[in-house]
Amino acid sequence: MSTVRRPLIIGNWKMNLGLNQSIGLAKELKNLVASIYAGPETAVCPSFPHLLAVRQILEGSVIGVGAQDLAPQKPGAYTGAVCAEQLSELELRFALLGHSERRQFFGETDMDVAEKIRAAFRVGLVPVLCFGETLEQREAGSTEEVVVRQVGAAIEGLESQALATLVLAYEPIWAIGTGHSAEVADAQDVHRLVRGLLQEAAGEESAQTTRILYGGSVNSSNVGGYLAAEDIDGALVGGASLDPDEFVKILCYQDHT
Ligand code: PEP
Repeated sequence: MSTVRRPLIIGNWKMNLGLNQSIGLAKELKNLVASIYAGPETAVCPSFPHLLAVRQILEGSVIGVGAQDLAPQKPGAYTGAVCAEQLSELELRFALLGHSERRQFFGETDMDVAEKIRAAFRVGLVPVLCFGETLEQREAGSTEEVVVRQVGAAIEGLESQALATLVLAYEPIWAIGTGHSAEVADAQDVHRLVRGLLQEAAGEESAQTTRILYGGSVNSSNVGGYLAAEDIDGALVGGASLDPDEFVKILCYQDHT
């Protein structure tokens, strides 16, 4: 973590909660964070049908709200899809894009993800580009190749300003939801590689501004180790973000290292 980049911790609630559960979790987080907070930038990403309710509950709190995906098309006849323009009316801050579950279960390609990133920028949403290798790719020694391909396709043609605003999240797929988090040194190596790609694309100044999060079985016990690494600027948290006490402990990571 550098002093020029404000740490960012995002909770991804995935498709886990019903409406009342999302409302309850948002209310608990708001109460817990109100009294103790002086930490990283933070946001939570509920399911589409819960976004408005959660955003309204978190109004005036330090916790922002993001979407878990978006459709890249402009408003029109696309049954079942939710576009960036519709999300921007909800005054969200972030959109998670290219999460491995979207790539794995919904067939998203690098080109789809690149289009979604541009759609997010079109309306002023901050895209959070998720990328990372499978266990097979890791064991085959192709982590670097996969990361360069995924990140390269997503950032191609983006201007320096966009690259400085973009958030990236390195999420090795084998670490997501498994309890097997990556070694800090291994994650740092990938983050440094990605910062190098950003530097080639946009120059040193822009690359030093871009936040690169780590995601994959982050909890209150291991978050401090990641945040201490030079190029790890925050965390994308899945399972542990569903427990308000645990998520707030993660936000207060300095006290728990
Ligand atoms: C995720 O899916 O983005 C994630 C990091 O999940 P978990 O924290 O549960 O591994």
